[in-house]
Amino acid sequence: MNNEYVPEDFKFDKDLDGLSARLLAEHIKLYQGYVKKSNEIQEKIKAADKSEANASYSYISELKRQETFAVNGMKLHEAYFGHLGPAKEGTEQTGVPGGELLKMIEGDFGSQSAWLEDMVATGLSARGWAVLAYDFKDNRLHNYGADAHNVGAVWGAIPLIVLDVYEHAYFMDYGVNRKDYISSFFKNLNWEAANRVVHHHELHKKHGR
Ligand code: FE
Repeated sequence: MNNEYVPEDFKFDKDLDGLSARLLAEHIKLYQGYVKKSNEIQEKIKAADKSEANASYSYISELKRQETFAVNGMKLHEAYFGHLGPAKEGTEQTGVPGGELLKMIEGDFGSQSAWLEDMVATGLSARGWAVLAYDFKDNRLHNYGADAHNVGAVWGAIPLIVLDVYEHAYFMDYGVNRKDYISSFFKNLNWEAANRVVHHHELHKKHGR
């Protein structure tokens, strides 16, 4: 049985509003690397000597430590690119909040602008990611910050809006100006794509219960 992860085919032929095609192309290469390493690590784990496992160092221990980095790196980038701009030439409007997700945001944060203020603060605070997640603990939305792919992830929560704030996500276009990059991210955010995740998991039916 072949359980290999297959990289999704993200492509941005043109610049997005405030994000250059070159920046996005280089960033996609990093994503592809995480898919490759996820497969490689999981393959090596099968063959590794489990009797060497300990919390300081061994081959199997390092594989286990880095597996979560690679797999979360893969998943978070898939969410990020999946809702960035129109994936293909089409009619989907970007940057305009809407759908069930907007209603859920307004319910949990009071207003879209209050949520955005908190989300931007999360993005300026984190060293890796700002994630609007639906958490099954309380059936509500939370903006969680993560300092690395596998540092700060919260179990039992589904990422809905995923903002990459690693320097590689914006330095080529923005230098140190993370704030303007974050504004561009929200200009290009495809809310329809984020809403598809809500509907796929029927989160709007569970929300607030
Ligand atoms: Fe990234």
